[in-house]
Amino acid sequence: MRGTDRRAYAVAMAVVIAGYQLLPDGPWWTAAWQVGIGWAGTAAILAGARRLPWRDRLPWWCFALGIFANSSGIAVAVYAESVLGRVDLPTPADPLFLVLYPACALGLALLIRRREPGRNWTAMVDATTITTGLGLLAWVYVIEPAAQEAGMSLLGRAVQVAYPVGDLLLLAMLTRLLRAGGVRGASFWWLAGSFTAFLAGDTTWVVLGNLGDAGWALEEVLWFRRGIDMMFLTAFALAGLAALHLGARELARTAAPLPPRLGRLQLAALTGASLIAPAILAGQVASGRVTDGPAIVVGSTALFLLVVTRMAQLVRQVERQSRQVRELSRTDDLTGLPNRRAWNDELPRALERSRRDGAPVCVAVLDLDRFKQFNDSYGHPAGDRLLKEASAAWHSALREVDTLARYGGEEFTVLLPGADLASARAATERALAATPLGQTFSAGLALWDGTETSDELIARADAALYAAKGAGRDRIVAADPWPDVHMRRSQ
Ligand code: GH3
Ligand code: MG
Ligand code: MG
Repeated sequence: MRGTDRRAYAVAMAVVIAGYQLLPDGPWWTAAWQVGIGWAGTAAILAGARRLPWRDRLPWWCFALGIFANSSGIAVAVYAESVLGRVDLPTPADPLFLVLYPACALGLALLIRRREPGRNWTAMVDATTITTGLGLLAWVYVIEPAAQEAGMSLLGRAVQVAYPVGDLLLLAMLTRLLRAGGVRGASFWWLAGSFTAFLAGDTTWVVLGNLGDAGWALEEVLWFRRGIDMMFLTAFALAGLAALHLGARELARTAAPLPPRLGRLQLAALTGASLIAPAILAGQVASGRVTDGPAIVVGSTALFLLVVTRMAQLVRQVERQSRQVRELSRTDDLTGLPNRRAWNDELPRALERSRRDGAPVCVAVLDLDRFKQFNDSYGHPAGDRLLKEASAAWHSALREVDTLARYGGEEFTVLLPGADLASARAATERALAATPLGQTFSAGLALWDGTETSDELIARADAALYAAKGAGRDRIVAADPWPDVHMRRSQ
C-alpha cells in the first residue's frame, strides 16, 4: 500500500474513532460503529498481510482472527442483551470476545519465534517476572473475587476469570516481544501500541468495576464509558496500521539477539513487579486482615526465584565476557597465536616447571628474513598472509608440546619444554624447512641454564638470532652459555 493510502486509512480511523463520542445514545449505534472499526482494522491487517511472503502471513492472520471475532462479539452482545435479554455471564458474545486472547498471543508467539529463533532466557525471565507480579495483583483483586462471586453459574465464573487470564497471557507475550531482539520500526511500535491499548482498555474496565463497587459510578458517565471503548477501537485501528506499514516486512526478519541490556526503564519495571507482592501484603496488614496469604507466599517466592535467576544469568554473562576478554587480550589478531603478553606469562611458568622436574627447556627467537623486502615487492596484505601461513606451517612442524607465540612484527618465539639444544634445533630446522612461499627465517636458540631469568634467557636467544642474521640469514644459531656471572650482569 502506498504511503498516501496508509495515511488516508490513519486519518479516516482517527476521525471515525473521535466521532464515536458524538454518536446518538443507543446500543445499536455504538455497536455498529465499533464493529465497523473492528472490521476495517481486520481488513487492513489482511490487506497488509497479502504483501508479505507466505511464511510471514500467519501471525497477521492470527491478529485478524482475534480482532474480527472480538469486534463481531460486540454486535452479538448487544443482540443478546437487547433482543434476548441475556445479561448474565456467559453470554453468546463471550466466546467471540475471548478468541482474541489466544489468537493474538499465538500471533505474537509466532512473530517472536521468527524474530529470534534461539531461546532468549533473559527475555523470558524478564517477561515472566513482570507477568508474575501483575498476575499476583490480578489474582488478588480480579481473578479470585471473580472465581468466588456468589450467585453465578460455574461456567459464568469460568468465563469471568478467563478475561484477566487472557490479559495476562497477552501481557506475557507483549513484554516478551518488547524484551527480545529484532527490528523496531514504525510497524513494531504500532503493533505494540495496539496491544498496549487493548490491555489498557481491559484494565480500565476492571478498575472501573472496583470503583463502581466503592460507590464511584463512573460507568454511568457516558463520555467516560465511550472513552474506554475508544481504547479498544484504537487497538483495532493500530493493528491495521502496523500491517499496512511497509515496515511490516521487516517485522518477522530474524535478527541477532540483542546484547542483554538492563536500561533504567526495564530495571524500574522489574523492580516494580517484584515489589507488588510485599505491597499487597503491606496493604492487607494495614487493613488488619490478610486475606490472600497463600497467594502472596506463592507469588513472592516465584518473584524471588526469578530475581535470583536473573542475577545468576548476569553473573554468568559477566564471567563469560571476562573469559572472552582475557582470551582476546592474550591472542594475536592476525595469526591467532598467543601474543607477547601470553608469552610473558607462560615463559616464567615453564622455567618454574623445569626447575621443579629438572627437565631441560629451550627457547627460540625466529625472525623472517628480508620481510621488509617481501612487503615492498608484494604489498602489505601479502605480507600479512605470509605471516599467517608461515605461523600455521611452523606450528605444524614443531612438536605438539611446543608453544609458538608472535613476539611482535615478524618476530616469533618458541618455547620447547623438555628439549635439549639438539632436539630444539631439530624442531626449529623442521619449521625453517616448512616456511612457505620460498621464504626463510633466522633463529637464535638458547637452553635455559637453570638460574637465569626469562629476560636473560630471551636476551641470549636474541643475541644468537643477531649472529644468525650476521652470518648470512636462513640459519639457526645456538647461544653460548653465559661466560660468567659478572659478564651476565653487565649485559
Ligand atoms: P631482516 O632479514 O634483517 O630481518 O630484514 P627484515 O626486512 O625482515 O627486517 P626489518 O626489521 O627491516 O623489517 C621488518 C618489516 O616487517 C618491517 C615491517 O613493515 C614489517 N612488518 C611488521 N609487522 C608486520 C605485519 O603485521 N604485517 C606486515 N605485512 N608487515 C609487517
Ligand atoms: Mg625484525
Ligand atoms: Mg626480519
